[in-house]
Amino acid sequence: MKIAVLSRNPRLYSTRRLVEAGTERGHEVVVIDTLRAYMNIASHKPQIHYRGKPLEGFDAVIPRIGASVTFYGCAVLRQFEMMGVFPLNESVAIARSRDKLRSLQLLSRRGIGLPVTGFAHSPDDIPDLIEMVNGAPLVIKVLEGTQGIGVVLCETATAAESVIEAFMGLKQDIMVQEYIKEAGGADIRCFVVGDKVIASMKRQAKPGEFRSNLHRGGSASLIKITPEERMTALRAAKVMGLSVAGVDILRSNHGPLVMEVNSSPGLEGIETTTGKDVAGIIIQHLEKSGGPNMTRTKGKG
Ligand code: ADP
Ligand code: MG
Repeated sequence: MKIAVLSRNPRLYSTRRLVEAGTERGHEVVVIDTLRAYMNIASHKPQIHYRGKPLEGFDAVIPRIGASVTFYGCAVLRQFEMMGVFPLNESVAIARSRDKLRSLQLLSRRGIGLPVTGFAHSPDDIPDLIEMVNGAPLVIKVLEGTQGIGVVLCETATAAESVIEAFMGLKQDIMVQEYIKEAGGADIRCFVVGDKVIASMKRQAKPGEFRSNLHRGGSASLIKITPEERMTALRAAKVMGLSVAGVDILRSNHGPLVMEVNSSPGLEGIETTTGKDVAGIIIQHLEKSGGPNMTRTKGKG
């Protein structure tokens, strides 16, 4: 196959590993800088140009679209889909997953366990909003944050009120969430490829921190997940429409709760922790399900 990897930087671990794994398995793999792909959207024959030439002959595309380039990246990916190139994850599913509130709404309508979460616009509604999520301590999250930035733990209702007011004053959309204390600063990353959880790890926040993100100093270790956790992760990825996803789960007193579903999960932490060839498994998945004209949406939003 001829595979495009949409990525801003060929030196990133995940990008490098995907190129390596694809090449090892006999494919031609080309890294395309997402922001340097430009397109003719009005032509009868959809095209993408790159460094002055049209991109041609690709069978599959692996999107590695960073949060800061979601809008443009999804447009480029959609164009690939319109050209009949098979995407590892579809642009609609990626766009969906990038909005934390929208994701939780989609997961909740399918009955997937979630932390109690509230969303409001007016400062007048803050006291009741706090009540709705069972009071303090609670977690406040910026809707489009990543890597733990924009996630705040408020110990008291008074603190929560002022933080929520501050975010609203800055016109920043936030959601308010019950704090799952019993998770003890840990969460479980389930790496889904196709219809399997192919690897999982536990991430533990550093002492004095509740956010387990590796970027915030968290540490990763091996973990055996329960059948219920496995099922929850698979269902969450399916509801989001993602064939490759990093599903983050909190272990609560009343079972697994999905915190978020990542559409471009990093490979470094999971490969280093589990010793698994995750990049190779992703390429094998493409070999099975990909190929020209196998896209379901053809760029339909
Ligand atoms: P981001 O997209 O920035 O990673 P998350 O929603 O994943 O944001 O939150 C970051 C971290 O904060 C999580 O990995 C988890 O350790 C912790 N966390 C988030 N929400 C909760 C919650 N409701 N209860 C307990 N811990 C939480
Ligand atoms: Mg996270």
